[in-house]
Amino acid sequence: MTDTRGSAATVEAGTADPAFEAAFKDAFGRAPEGAWAAPGRVNLIGEHTDYNDGFVMPFALPQATRAAVARREDGLLRLHSADMDGGVVELRIDDLAPGATEGWARYPAAVLWTLRQAGHPVGGADIHYDSSVPVGGGLSSSAALQVVTALALTELYGVGGLSRQELAVLCQSSENTYVGAPVGVMDQTASACCTEGHALHLDVRGLAQRQVPLDLAAEGLRLLVVDTRVKHAHADGAYGERRAGCEEAAAVLGVPALRDIEPDGLEQALAALPDDRLRRLTRHIVTENARVGQVLALCEAGRTRDIGPVLTAGHASLRDDFQVSCPELDLVVDTALAAGALGARMTGGGFGGSAIVLVDAGDEERIARTVAEALPQARHFSTTPAEGARRLW
Ligand code: ADP
Ligand code: MG
Repeated sequence: MTDTRGSAATVEAGTADPAFEAAFKDAFGRAPEGAWAAPGRVNLIGEHTDYNDGFVMPFALPQATRAAVARREDGLLRLHSADMDGGVVELRIDDLAPGATEGWARYPAAVLWTLRQAGHPVGGADIHYDSSVPVGGGLSSSAALQVVTALALTELYGVGGLSRQELAVLCQSSENTYVGAPVGVMDQTASACCTEGHALHLDVRGLAQRQVPLDLAAEGLRLLVVDTRVKHAHADGAYGERRAGCEEAAAVLGVPALRDIEPDGLEQALAALPDDRLRRLTRHIVTENARVGQVLALCEAGRTRDIGPVLTAGHASLRDDFQVSCPELDLVVDTALAAGALGARMTGGGFGGSAIVLVDAGDEERIARTVAEALPQARHFSTTPAEGARRLW
């Protein structure tokens, strides 16, 4: 259960990579002007809270998506990915429109279209991508693809005055509007704004950020990411349904978002809701926001070991109340806990994807082996918080 993609993960800044440059030349017959990278992420705690105006706490992975880019003056956007079959995708930027682009190319097309809609003077480009982020593994390869595209285009075209957070919001909006997925802003913010050695505490209402030191090794800890390598087909529809349910509950309760329900007002809120579905959704969001606060306080107090039970409680809430787990994620979490993990939970939207497992350093190999035996298809790697999006050369 080793992840070959994950092991080639760390992307160094500053030095050109001849093989990556050669891959750009193979695709486009000329040299790139520069290269950028944006990481995938895991979310430590705060799941499905971002679209409820709540709190999240992701960190960036060492695995990243790279983009080698050169501008074009003929109004074309030409895209190539080492991770996708089908060769170069050629689009005319004047023809870009929500719903008009198929396949993986709609993510970068969406970013270019959204930047232009917002009045930023970006134009055509040739872009070659490769990625060490598992695609479709719940580790936000899609956000990495968006953010690396946005950063590269804005820097190459000299767009000034956009903060990293604003870039992330543009990427989110591109996915909402152009790709048609009603996602929150966590994944793009994590990829754009995280810093090495820190988790990012984000208050999605107002977008206040706090970099929270997270030095697992110093406390004798390891964090395993276990990619179940399943993605259940109904995932996208179920996400939209959960989101709509949360909005419905907030409307019934007369608050702008479920974030406005405090833990000590939860029982009263539950009593005011008409059915069990809305009660379960509400209970998850309110308790999950509280768990983000607990994890933040423990990490800031240097008590990272003690976040284990909070992570595990988060999983139970996602499984039983929000109902977005799946048998494979439950198996990983249950097996890891039975083998002595300090805490474990699914991470990301759910219905497949990845779980995180907090362990004592000395238990890492044994627990990883036990999980591998229980779910042989899974891939795992040990991780620490890495840096966010950046120019490579
Ligand atoms: P994830 O959990 O990895 O974000 P998603 O389903 O949200 O999973 O996004 C995966 C999609 O993003 C892929 O199907 C593809 O369309 C696009 N994508 C991600 N990484 C790449 C890449 N390196 N090259 C091309 N497309 C990519
Ligand atoms: Mg995604």
